[in-house]
Amino acid sequence: MHQLVDPFQRRISYLRVSVTDRCDFRCFYCLPKGYKGFAQPETWLTPGEVERIVAAFARMGVSRIRLTGGEPLVRPDCLEIARRIGACDGIEDLSLSTNASQLARHAQGLYDAGVRRINVSLDSLRPERFREITHNGDLGRVLAGLQAAKAVGIDPIKINMVAMKGVNDDEIGDMVEFCLREGFTLRFIETMPVGDSGRSAGDGHYLSLRQVRADLERRFRLEPAVMGGGGPAQYVRVKGTALRIGFITPISQHFCETCNRVRLSAEGTLYLCLGQQDRVELREPLRAGVSDEDLEGLIRAAIARKPERHEFRERPDQVMRVMALTGG
Ligand code: SAM
Ligand code: SF4
Repeated sequence: MHQLVDPFQRRISYLRVSVTDRCDFRCFYCLPKGYKGFAQPETWLTPGEVERIVAAFARMGVSRIRLTGGEPLVRPDCLEIARRIGACDGIEDLSLSTNASQLARHAQGLYDAGVRRINVSLDSLRPERFREITHNGDLGRVLAGLQAAKAVGIDPIKINMVAMKGVNDDEIGDMVEFCLREGFTLRFIETMPVGDSGRSAGDGHYLSLRQVRADLERRFRLEPAVMGGGGPAQYVRVKGTALRIGFITPISQHFCETCNRVRLSAEGTLYLCLGQQDRVELREPLRAGVSDEDLEGLIRAAIARKPERHEFRERPDQVMRVMALTGG
């Protein structure tokens, strides 16, 4: 098998697939209110096209896929996409990032399609504040979605909290207690300057996770831990409990040297780095009847252009696209 290795000797084993850039929320750090730049559905890759690209990656050693968005569950055929990917030879791990607003009715279908792990965005446990952050999100539905996922046996369930100064930093302890009670894993994320909304959120509310970790160390006894998933989070465990807490620190401590992933947009653009503009278009060649061999060649050529690292600190103005386009 021809493995995918980039110019910096990083093996690419993980593909994140954004199935739509649309979303039923408008988290202020991700999608601006009134955003009009969404891709038209006819430009979205079809489930069959997603399957072809995933199969090509799988033949070159990619074994992990995460469905993301926008909100993947607003796309009507998201489950069909999940089923096709779940049945691809070589795909050993299929996961989903979701805001959980529609998870209650899809949890069983996702499990049946092969989704065993999910990440759920949850920045506040206070209904009013949650509504403000997400611009009208209903916390009750999200919590019901989480319970449904637990009930069908999806495990682990990881809660992603973007920790923001003056927005939700007073809820960090509450979120730890919530995840302890529910048996979820908790991950904190630093705001990233992706799109204007990410930049302005970061300007006003950036919170270094070094500080969050130091605060948690004063309140809980933490010990180093490991957690499967192939991502960049650094984990600790709250001593004497099963709770693992992850820190995703793209700004205060970047982790590009171990990057193992690339991202496919709903329109079939392969983005080689979350924090850079480098990309390769795969939809046109697919629709022009590219052979499997040539598709693999296009992907290999793309990987040969993967940048060494993001420059969120040095060039925060670089990424104009919104986070919902690449799915974080
Ligand atoms: N809608 C799904 C969700 O919210 O989980 C999947 C897509 S969302 C873009 C993926 C992750 O990106 C979420 O955890 C979200 O909090 C995070 N995110 C979005 N914009 C961000 C930003 N500017 N900085 C840091 N994380 C961001
Ligand atoms: Fe939607 Fe997720 Fe972006 Fe929030 S973070 S607006 S839920 S895509």
